[in-house]
Amino acid sequence: MKVSPPLSPTLVPTKSNDRISDELLKSLSTAAVDEETGARPIHRSIDLLRGAGMLLDDGTKDAQATARALMRVGSVNLSVGRLWEGHVNALLLINLYGTSEVKSAIQEQISNGAFLGVWGADGTVPVTSGAAEGRLMGAKNFASGLGTVSHAIITVNSGPEVQLALVNVSDMKRADPSVWDMRGMKATASGTYDFTGVKGDDVAWIGNPGDYLQEPHFVGGVWRIAALQVGAAVGLLDQAAAQLRAMGRMQAEPQKTRLMSVLMRAWAGMSFVERAALATLRTDLTSEQIVATSISARLMTEEVALDAIRAVEQSIGLQHFGSNSGTGQMTRDLSVYLRQAARDAFLQRAANAALAQDGAIWGVFE
Ligand SMILES: Cc1cc2nc3c(=O)[nH]c(=O)nc-3n(C[C@H](O)[C@H](O)[C@H](O)COP(=O)(O)OP(=O)(O)OC[C@H]3O[C@@H](n4cnc5c(N)ncnc54)[C@H](O)[C@@H]3O)c2cc1C
Repeated sequence: MKVSPPLSPTLVPTKSNDRISDELLKSLSTAAVDEETGARPIHRSIDLLRGAGMLLDDGTKDAQATARALMRVGSVNLSVGRLWEGHVNALLLINLYGTSEVKSAIQEQISNGAFLGVWGADGTVPVTSGAAEGRLMGAKNFASGLGTVSHAIITVNSGPEVQLALVNVSDMKRADPSVWDMRGMKATASGTYDFTGVKGDDVAWIGNPGDYLQEPHFVGGVWRIAALQVGAAVGLLDQAAAQLRAMGRMQAEPQKTRLMSVLMRAWAGMSFVERAALATLRTDLTSEQIVATSISARLMTEEVALDAIRAVEQSIGLQHFGSNSGTGQMTRDLSVYLRQAARDAFLQRAANAALAQDGAIWGVFE
């Protein structure tokens, strides 16, 4: 019998956990329960990422590897994944639009313990500049990582005049984590931060007005959210299957059918997310093609994750809803995390790119 030659190594994808050790993933997984209750501060997990050298990368050196790393972290600890994604996004914005002085200063600060976030969502009084002596006014809402993020990229002013600013946010007198009264993602402490009175001298402006909205980096970046979503869905299915195996129920055909039909779509979603990540590096595509792919990956993985939650609820049954249930904790986090901005408007935008003109149907698969 003829034996086929092995594939060329360049055709064999690398393992998705190549950049993250199993030991690190295990530690993040174990930490998740205590981080949810507040018994363990989440900054200890962030320090594990720092120790693994994961905080100096803005995700663009190897976008596919970044997507896979986000999936892996999201599969074991979605709150840590969300904070890490914010840090990666902030570093990318600084690298895209910051001066060389700010870029090198922030690299040094990260090496010395800084951790970043991007706080765009405004509070009741939006953050604006131009008050007396150039001070800021207003507050941010849903500001992830209060007490963990040391420096945030914030949006100041709105519309085409929106401008990015890098501000030290370690003054906890300005923070209110208590308003983050959600049933999931508790460990992210995504409350409010009041910038009123912050002096102009304490603000490092990043880029020009409107830069933040430039594509394909703005909406085009939602593939990172998609990576976390699909990773968390796979992590949830994994946890459910382990529980069913322990109960001697995984061999039942209805369980295999229910979970496998979702897992195969999750695998498809993972592949799509990798493709969306790689698309951001292509210069032969229009920005809108890249954005449409990223949006589609984000919304497709949202659907898969919702299906995973439904399948796990049906498979585990009532035990899933106990306060100590592992699948219950993962579901609380995932269902909250899936509520990301502007899903319906994004779908319309993707449809306009792919369906509203001749010859656009193949998108990035052209
Ligand atoms: C865990 C977590 C951490 C976060 N961390 C941060 C952070 O660090 N920084 C930050 O800036 N933000 C953060 N956010 C907030 C995020 O940026 C969004 O603001 C938030 O997720 C929006 O969620 P939403 O469901 O209210 O979306 P919306 O877009 O407000 O949608 C809400 C609902 O309204 C409907 N809807 C929306 N627009 C219309 C319309 N025009 N017509 C009809 N229906 C409409 C949609 O169908 C949707 O179901 C975080 C969110 C989460 C979940």
